[in-house]
Amino acid sequence: MASYDVIVIGSGPGGYVSAIRCAQLGLKTACVEGRDTLGGTCLNVGCIPSKALLHASHQLHEAQHNFAKMGLIAEDPKVDWAKMQGYKTEVIDGNTKGIEFLFKKNKIDWLKGWGSIPAAGQVKVGDDIHQAKHIIIASGSEPSSLPGIEIDEKTVVTSTGALALDKIPSKMVVIGAGVIGLELGSVYARLGTEVEVIEFLDDITPGMDGEVQKTFLRILKKQGLKFTMGAAVQSVAVKKGKATVSYVKRKKDTTHELEADVVLVATGRRPYVDGLGLDALGVTLTARGQIQTDAHYATSVPGIYAIGDAITGPMLAHKAEDEGMAVAEILAGQAGHVNYDVIPGVIYTHPEVATVGQTEEQLKEAGRAYKAGKFSFMGNGRAKANFAADGFVKILADATTDRILGAHIIGPMAGDLIHEVCVAMEFGAAAEDLARTCHAHPTYSEAVREAALACGDGAIHS
Ligand code: FAD
Repeated sequence: MASYDVIVIGSGPGGYVSAIRCAQLGLKTACVEGRDTLGGTCLNVGCIPSKALLHASHQLHEAQHNFAKMGLIAEDPKVDWAKMQGYKTEVIDGNTKGIEFLFKKNKIDWLKGWGSIPAAGQVKVGDDIHQAKHIIIASGSEPSSLPGIEIDEKTVVTSTGALALDKIPSKMVVIGAGVIGLELGSVYARLGTEVEVIEFLDDITPGMDGEVQKTFLRILKKQGLKFTMGAAVQSVAVKKGKATVSYVKRKKDTTHELEADVVLVATGRRPYVDGLGLDALGVTLTARGQIQTDAHYATSVPGIYAIGDAITGPMLAHKAEDEGMAVAEILAGQAGHVNYDVIPGVIYTHPEVATVGQTEEQLKEAGRAYKAGKFSFMGNGRAKANFAADGFVKILADATTDRILGAHIIGPMAGDLIHEVCVAMEFGAAAEDLARTCHAHPTYSEAVREAALACGDGAIHS
């Protein structure tokens, strides 16, 4: 019906950011979204609701464990689950309505409904066919399960169901010790649920710095989460609202069973490209079902681009956003670009875990000579005062040039602290540059500086 410079399919962080950037750069833009609200996985059933529940449950933990130490008397704090869910919903609503406002402000048309691409240059929504010079697919991802497991989103749930359970379960089994499983497992553990995590591999959070993995596991165990590592889940059977998880311990080849009120399947996500008509168009997919793109986000079909969780790379909201901006700038004739070497990853547990760049394991494997500067939050006055001294900052720098190659933080506000290192890395900084930068006292950031100092002549407070 209408004619646009750009139609974006999907309004997650990739899609909505791309649409806004396109509009800011003078391109007539529409965004297709099939959900009732804008914002995609991230705002509706991902980053935002999970962080709301992490925040609320952390407050409970503080009240139960740390208030009395500071002379604050909050006897026997209780959880009103319906109210907590209401708080979460309000947070989601505020954010999704915010995107609607930004669409109006930037004169972006929201084409409501599920979109498909009958041909390059055309997007079909309902019975309407819209014309577009460029189409950006930002259709995101969906949870993936395991064979032998049927999701009902009540007893056997994905993250979506886990964010909206009817009641707080007594016992939860989490399948998969990745970011989503550990964040949501932490929420329920703090709310009083007995949480047991089953992981196929021998370490949690695969791919993360080994030292961080070990410290993180120790802290989570101290918080009451139980772990069974090296275990392959075979099936989950549900009878009268109770689940039985059957798994094989891989080294011993023995079969075991666990009962639970709720089983959270957190075994990863897969790209969602259903109904777009990509097969008929001849859009090439990778072996893992992601849309294949070149360095400019162009697919194999001219005029069709793709970004975010639907393509290769880490499934992170900020990676999708950056790609959304970059592709918009490319379409507007500018030089859009994403530096994939400096994409931070954060786990919003308590303490937080944050990482950017290369791990020691990767550097060793690449045979690169490096130095590691490490500083424990035990030496940070602010962290000690706030009962947050568990954890450390580790900075990795080239042995010869001192250029920062990576940073790995487990500790308070790690998800914010990491950005100091990200900016330094974008500027090609040396560890000494961070070490010579005056940091305000008393802040958690001082721990980052101390780790940078430890790459040179030594940290002061260790
Ligand atoms: P999505 O956000 O998945 O959005 C895609 C949108 O496209 C959806 O709304 C979908 O309805 C729509 N769509 C798809 N096909 C069509 C169609 N044919 N027509 C119309 N609309 C369509 N990432 C972080 O960086 N930080 C976090 O803390 C974090 N926490 C998370 C917690 C959970 C529980 C989950 C599940 C994910 C989390 N993520 C987090 C990951 C993050 O949500 C995703 O990486 C991000 O949402 C991807 O953005 P996207 O724009 O590619 O796709």
